[in-house]
Amino acid sequence: MNKTVNLQETLTGLLGKEIRQASNEEIYGALLTMVQTMAEGRERADAKKKLYYISAEFLIGKLLSNNMINLGIYQEVKEILEENGKNLAEIEEIEPEPSLGNGGLGRLAACFLDSIATLGLAGDGIGLNYHLGLFKQEFENRLQKETPNPWITDKSWLKKTDVTYPVYFNGLKVRARMYDIEVTGYDNQSNKLHLFDIDSVDESLVGEGIAFNKEDIEKNLTLFLYPDDADESGRLLRIYQQYFMVSSGAQLILDECVAKGCNLYDLPDYAVIQINDTHPTMVIPELIRLLVRRGLDMDDAIDVVSRTCAYTNHTILAEALEKWPVHYLKKVVPQLVPIIEVLDDKVRRRFDDERVAIIDRYDTVHMAHIDIHYGFSVNGVAALHTEILKNTELHPFYQIYPEKFNNKTNGITFRRWLLHCNPMLAGYIESLIGNGFKKDASELSKLLAYKDDDAVLTKLMEIKHKNKEALCAYLKDTQGLSISPDTIFDIQVKRLHEYKRQQLNALYIIDKYLEIKTGRIPAAPVTAIFGAKAAPAYTIAKDIIHLILCLQEIINNDPEVNNYLRVVMVENYNVTKAEKLIPACDISEQISLASKEASGTGNMKFMLNGAVTLGTEDGANVEIHEAVGDDNIFVFGASSEEVIRHYAKGDYVARDYYENNPAIHAAIDFITGDAMLKVGQKENLERLKNELINKDWFMTLLDFDSYKETKERALQAYTDEKEWAKKTLVNIAKAGFFSSDRTIEEYNRDIWHLA
Ligand SMILES: *Cc1c(COP(=O)(O)O)cnc(C)c1O
Repeated sequence: MNKTVNLQETLTGLLGKEIRQASNEEIYGALLTMVQTMAEGRERADAKKKLYYISAEFLIGKLLSNNMINLGIYQEVKEILEENGKNLAEIEEIEPEPSLGNGGLGRLAACFLDSIATLGLAGDGIGLNYHLGLFKQEFENRLQKETPNPWITDKSWLKKTDVTYPVYFNGLKVRARMYDIEVTGYDNQSNKLHLFDIDSVDESLVGEGIAFNKEDIEKNLTLFLYPDDADESGRLLRIYQQYFMVSSGAQLILDECVAKGCNLYDLPDYAVIQINDTHPTMVIPELIRLLVRRGLDMDDAIDVVSRTCAYTNHTILAEALEKWPVHYLKKVVPQLVPIIEVLDDKVRRRFDDERVAIIDRYDTVHMAHIDIHYGFSVNGVAALHTEILKNTELHPFYQIYPEKFNNKTNGITFRRWLLHCNPMLAGYIESLIGNGFKKDASELSKLLAYKDDDAVLTKLMEIKHKNKEALCAYLKDTQGLSISPDTIFDIQVKRLHEYKRQQLNALYIIDKYLEIKTGRIPAAPVTAIFGAKAAPAYTIAKDIIHLILCLQEIINNDPEVNNYLRVVMVENYNVTKAEKLIPACDISEQISLASKEASGTGNMKFMLNGAVTLGTEDGANVEIHEAVGDDNIFVFGASSEEVIRHYAKGDYVARDYYENNPAIHAAIDFITGDAMLKVGQKENLERLKNELINKDWFMTLLDFDSYKETKERALQAYTDEKEWAKKTLVNIAKAGFFSSDRTIEEYNRDIWHLA
């Protein structure tokens, strides 16, 4: 907007010396200050109505480069630094990645904040300032080890504010302090991410690994995201965290609205609260409580809050839909219990249906049920997911409130996931179709005009190769791994979960390994790349990581095989790693059991960067398939209807596949064979093998043959370079729909109604 700043002078002024003389750390500090000042200069004047996006996670990634892109100074800064013998990429390395999220849900929140600011909408994030983040993943003896991830340094994007609120727990009062991070919009105004914290948090509470005293709330409240909930003290701590977040957030929201002239009865004219999954659900009873304290009667307070709150559902996995025993809530937030009882009572008077009750007969509170009854909108995150919610998981609610249900297919911000992470591709696209796609992603479809242009196709493959070379260098540097850019990069990076089926990919790799050992050479050499953190208490997920790390050891060191197949497990997968992996990908593995992945957003990032999807008809894969057509995606596996039928009938028996399919039998036996036991832990490998044969809740073996056959076709297709490049081009050209700008326009049109 304001291009009069002289960056060179500003930087030199901040440094107090010539750029040439400054260290990378000093330059990073100066850039941070400069960007923060510029972002503050763009803060919006308060709009009458504001969105509050409340979420336990914001997986925002590093901020320096993205902010510079959004402020329109990236190129200029890069050039100034180069002229002075400095390298922006090296300076970027200094920034620690904020560890405020876990996976897709948190990354979605971050992409949304970017798009909200970019579209010029008034919308702030509300969350928590976890000092040690989720955890940092290290590999030790081919096992995942968790260590704390301290990411807050003295040069931080966090700005401490004077805003504080009291938060009352049972017998304990703490003071919440607000920290702010500026959220820049691309060529537009800035919004804020508000992160609450308490001053008394004590990082020295952490002992071995990520263990700590879970009962010392004043010291541990904002230490970690998702503290281990295997025991009661861990579960109570999660409730402490959730209430701390929503009580602070609710006080902030009411203060801001009152300051703008709101009389509280008209709250929905001033605020809309988007509840990201069930973690922030207590904002509903808390707001009701606060409104009653400020003079509204209970019925009015309930009515006002119900017209202010909207809920996004992210999963149909039963274990992920939060339920809290009433006696837990009584221990932590007794003041909410009578309100939740009133909410339940009203529901029970209206509907004689146990399935929609808030407090069930075991005295357990179903958080999602509060959101659905006392919010005005319920959305799923991809077309298929929303249909499953309406027809299956939330069917009784859909019958009561059909008008509340709507779909908002997820999206990703193209600033981070194209302009920033793949500047070569972004620059080339701009040279072909101009820069309109940066503001209107649908303009990417102009690329289709080049579908048969050999020069363009060749150039796309050249760019991909360069990105693969860069990834090879990075993996060599960081993990000492040697891989070749002249192999197919087949990548599966996402949280480790059985429903995402990394184990299916691993079984395929074993099968391939055994084939190569018998002399059957694949159509093209493949590098299978994984990156995934497993929840610390999720035993089987950690066993799957162990399996992959053992395969990496065996296969990469087997001279009969390693020219055709290698395996790589990237340590501590996070946004920074994603930004390096995704531009280098040929085949994007999106192989969840159909019906289980609500949307996925990794699938969209890969598509945008010219990878071809190998996937099931699940989540947003369905919409990617529709967009690119049968020729530009590799689809396999049982349909969601089939899978839902198997669950209903309980007729999937993994052992039948193990016993009747020789390839499956051999691959599973390999898990506990001599080669594996030489490098792996017997206990872990046997447990995993048993799980696959006797349980396999996510039906890995059901899709094995279909996966293998389809993957072979994909590998074969890759050998025709022109045809492959064409698929790549079509994927990029059709990615426009998956911009989070489109998603946010839909949220605003249908739910938020911001000016
Ligand atoms: C996009 C993203 C995810 C989500 O990936 P899915 O494949 O959709 O599960 C998780 N983690 C990081 C770091 C991401 O950038």
